[in-house]
Amino acid sequence: MSTSTEKLLPCPLFINGEWIARHDLPSSPVHNPSTGEVIAQTPLADAATVGEAVQAASEAFPAWWETPAIERARVLFNYRTLLENDFDEICKIISREHGKTLAESRGELQRGLECVEYACGIPELLKGEYLENVARGIDCEVIRQPLGVCAGITPFNFPVMIAMWMFPLAIASGNTFIFKPSEKVPLTAVRIVELLEQAGLPKGVLNLVHGGKESVDALLTHPDVRAISFVGSTPVAKYIYETGTRNGKRVQANGGAKNHVIIMPDADVKNSVDGIMGGAFGCAGERCMAIATAVCVGDASKTVLPVLADSARNLKIGPTDREPQPQMGPVITREHCDRVTELIIQGAEQGGKLLSDGRAVDVSEAPNGFYLGATVVDEVQPDSTLADTEVFGPVLSVMRAGNLEEALQLANASAFGNGTAIFTTSGSAAREFKHRVKAGMVGINVGVPAPMAMFPFSGWDSSFFGDLHIQGRDGVRFYTREKTVTSRWFGEGDVWRK
Ligand code: NAD
Repeated sequence: MSTSTEKLLPCPLFINGEWIARHDLPSSPVHNPSTGEVIAQTPLADAATVGEAVQAASEAFPAWWETPAIERARVLFNYRTLLENDFDEICKIISREHGKTLAESRGELQRGLECVEYACGIPELLKGEYLENVARGIDCEVIRQPLGVCAGITPFNFPVMIAMWMFPLAIASGNTFIFKPSEKVPLTAVRIVELLEQAGLPKGVLNLVHGGKESVDALLTHPDVRAISFVGSTPVAKYIYETGTRNGKRVQANGGAKNHVIIMPDADVKNSVDGIMGGAFGCAGERCMAIATAVCVGDASKTVLPVLADSARNLKIGPTDREPQPQMGPVITREHCDRVTELIIQGAEQGGKLLSDGRAVDVSEAPNGFYLGATVVDEVQPDSTLADTEVFGPVLSVMRAGNLEEALQLANASAFGNGTAIFTTSGSAAREFKHRVKAGMVGINVGVPAPMAMFPFSGWDSSFFGDLHIQGRDGVRFYTREKTVTSRWFGEGDVWRK
């Protein structure tokens, strides 16, 4: 394993249109999870460095705001083309520093591109409202204006897509932006910002600052930052929401999850197994929309569960930084691998039955990678650790229910409220589930109902802190404020009535 500095990939900051290497700052290692190798060091920006980025964004704001929306959109059209031209290279960077398979990276980048495409429609999205004669001779209009400097803080698990939830719409709306990616996956962030620079974005409009808690705290307390978009774990999301709003900022903060899927006895076996395998083990379970718990209703434990467990045992695990590609890659760090292992052990100690045990996985071609196999723990009890702890790894808990009513009670007991799904061929069961389930994103025979760019990513309860969600029209509203203008003209107008 090599950690010598000459082999490390560069990880610069981007402030006021300049790429800056900051070897003087403390740093945090970036791994290739497939091999365990350190491939870069993320510089951890201090408050002074964040201050420079905010100043650059503040200075760039007036001219960017005055730029017509259609011209701002044109930069994003260019950006879209550049992202598409660089598609395969970006996917390799994602897979190398995150560990997801190349197919998963392609899916992620495609979703990110769709967010850019949505933001390209900004002239239409920004249109206001108008009503003439709210009283005789008096008209009223609502116009949308940008907020100023906004900031986005992202997690490790979708290095492109989650960034694209934020800055394309924010800058299209006329704001300037500070992007603070996860210190675990900074290299994808560098590449996508390089391409935005090439697309013709004026200096200072988007700034890239790497770092951890200190940089985030500097953004949360800086008086010139008007709004914060955050995606990450629930404790940090709550902290961001509370600290940001206390400091007078608009905040949208997406948190963690524990998503339930209900399998009805009438569910189609193949479609359910395919959907649940993808939902539980796609991206090695490191998705906020991952299926964490399957609730088998009645005979579903006899029809679907054995096929599911067999598929999990046969899932091919391996490195994602080379060909041939596996079906599932490693998890993000050694520490995370150990934490997930500990949760599997606790699950078994608290009465769970391991139908597929991922701890024993053997990846001989990359012995230092952070691997776990697909794990299925049956008969997880509602009061056990696995029942409502977010694992964020390739572990599927299974619970049993006698009917839909009992299954809904198990799903609705969760403190989280992100995604959920039902597999059934019954319209009335699906309708009952859709109406009563306590979660913001619902799938009907869709294992991962992650909304596309034109719809809000609408988590509930401990999965979201704020009012306006990320993506879609909520996203436009979040990055703009309304100005309501009431007008009346004296004089000449009266002439026309005489
Ligand atoms: P994380 O909360 O550890 O980190 C997220 C971001 O917050 C990073 O940029 C990190 O540098 C920063 N951060 C970490 N600790 C901080 C602290 N104490 N103070 C200030 N900033 C801090 O999350 P992660 O491990 O990178 O990502 C996984 C989590 O994100 C999971 O819980 C997952 O469910 C969640 N997630 C949620 C969504 C959603 O839309 N709801 C989407 C993706 C991921």
